[in-house]
Amino acid sequence: MGELELHTMRGRLDQGRLNKARRGELISTVPVGYVIAPDGAVERDPDESARGVVELVFAKFQELGGVGAVCRYLWDHGIELGIRPSRGPGRGRLEWRRPSRQTIRFMLKHPIYAGAYAYGRVATDPRRRLPGRPGSGRHALPMDQWAVLIPDRFPAYIPWARYLANQERLRENQARCQSRGAPRRGRALLGGLVACEACGRRRMVHSQRDGGPHYACHREDSRGHRTGCPSVAAAGLDALVTRQILHALEPAALELSLRAQGDLQRERSRLSRHWQRRVEQARYDAARVERQYQAVDPENRLVARTLERRWEQALREVQRLEEDFARFEQETPTSLTPAEQEQILALSASIPGLWQAATTTHADRKEVVRRLVDRVVIAVHGTTEQVDVAIHWSGGFVSRHSLRRSVHRYERLRDFDRLMLRIEELRRGGCSSPRIAARLNEEGFHPPRRDTAFSREMVRQLLSRRGLSNERDRSDVLRPGEWWLGDLARRLAVSLGRLRQWQAYGWLRARRSPLQRRWIVWADERELVRLERLQDYRPARPCDRYPEELTAPEHGPEA
Ligand SMILES: [Zn+2]
Repeated sequence: MGELELHTMRGRLDQGRLNKARRGELISTVPVGYVIAPDGAVERDPDESARGVVELVFAKFQELGGVGAVCRYLWDHGIELGIRPSRGPGRGRLEWRRPSRQTIRFMLKHPIYAGAYAYGRVATDPRRRLPGRPGSGRHALPMDQWAVLIPDRFPAYIPWARYLANQERLRENQARCQSRGAPRRGRALLGGLVACEACGRRRMVHSQRDGGPHYACHREDSRGHRTGCPSVAAAGLDALVTRQILHALEPAALELSLRAQGDLQRERSRLSRHWQRRVEQARYDAARVERQYQAVDPENRLVARTLERRWEQALREVQRLEEDFARFEQETPTSLTPAEQEQILALSASIPGLWQAATTTHADRKEVVRRLVDRVVIAVHGTTEQVDVAIHWSGGFVSRHSLRRSVHRYERLRDFDRLMLRIEELRRGGCSSPRIAARLNEEGFHPPRRDTAFSREMVRQLLSRRGLSNERDRSDVLRPGEWWLGDLARRLAVSLGRLRQWQAYGWLRARRSPLQRRWIVWADERELVRLERLQDYRPARPCDRYPEELTAPEHGPEA
């Protein structure tokens, strides 16, 4: 069978549907407030209260001007929509359900309520499709791109002019919502590419009060409360993906990829031959059925009809395989000439510079990211700071990374318990707050806010939470007659080094503090006198021993 015939036949199948749509007859289901009568005509719902709620939705939108406001009004007043399921046991029977935002938005956008028939209002973008989510990747087309629009086809709830005004209003609301999302500090690089592993949804760019844009997963329950997954700051994720992109474009990485190309190319031709054989076989089958169909006596209608159906089936199979083959060809890279490889390697050296250059716009970077990355799937570990990131590259390769996001409280940190144990351990080992902070940073601990390191102040706060504050600041550590070593040094006007020396010789009655292991010296009034004399004593000759009355400490209160 020739290509032309095949094309004609295929066209005939699609044309049938389109012709039906052009006549305004391709109708499978109707939205809330409408029913399909037994004769196929579309009518307003026979139930008066069901119609009343639909009218109320449009009246309230005109009055309140926003989808959210309409929903809140309906929820607050317990008003439900009369829905007739299109399948299942309750098919066609009126059920009352609490309206969702999605339903209200859908109603406001649907031209049927203004009496118009429309076909082809949405298109699917395969790049935005998520595996396992059949509805994903669909986006609404502007009205001038709809395949079919027939006004005054159905009984209406609102006039056409009102419908157009509503669309304008929805667009304005959305623009306002998005402009609110436009941050001051840089914009999100990955808008529209980030998806949520937990719920499979695309993440939206939202601006938060405490900083730049976030990739947020917002869902609302039936009362309008937000119940989405934890959000992730755009800055951190953008930086991670940028690093990976620049890394992938480094000369060394590219050279490896180019070398691997030879293997890929062999694999590709093997698969390609396999596809060709399958397509040829399908075409052959279709041609055979066609010959049978041509040979049959046209009078023999039953046989002719059966063969025609089989012919159509065979053609569909050919079409399906050809499309799969085309997709394979498109998705699998072809080989590069040595000259092209040279050129790529030469260019790659200047990529980091170009990326940072002042002349490179944000839109340029976004464009580069979209050429290289299909999507970025993120999974937040519970409500902790830990985020798993999977970059799905255009070639189909998936690289996995981990990211820390900012959280609001220490308790949210995945390693919070380990962190506190470590702080306690360091404190009991005698470390000061600055020392603890340095150790924590060395050991790879992180505070809740991203891009920060532990400071003395942070450690102090954590210590005081655990009752491990600086012992010098506490009133319950020193007993009567006891001094911190530094305080005693000041009191006696003797250097700290000298005092330590005395302590080492056993000339002081000293103990260590329980927590920080700081030296505490007992010295009551009499003992202070002895120490003052010790300080003033000068031996006649340097090698003379100090008199014992000066060096032997008094018995303390416990001794
Ligand atoms: Zn989610």
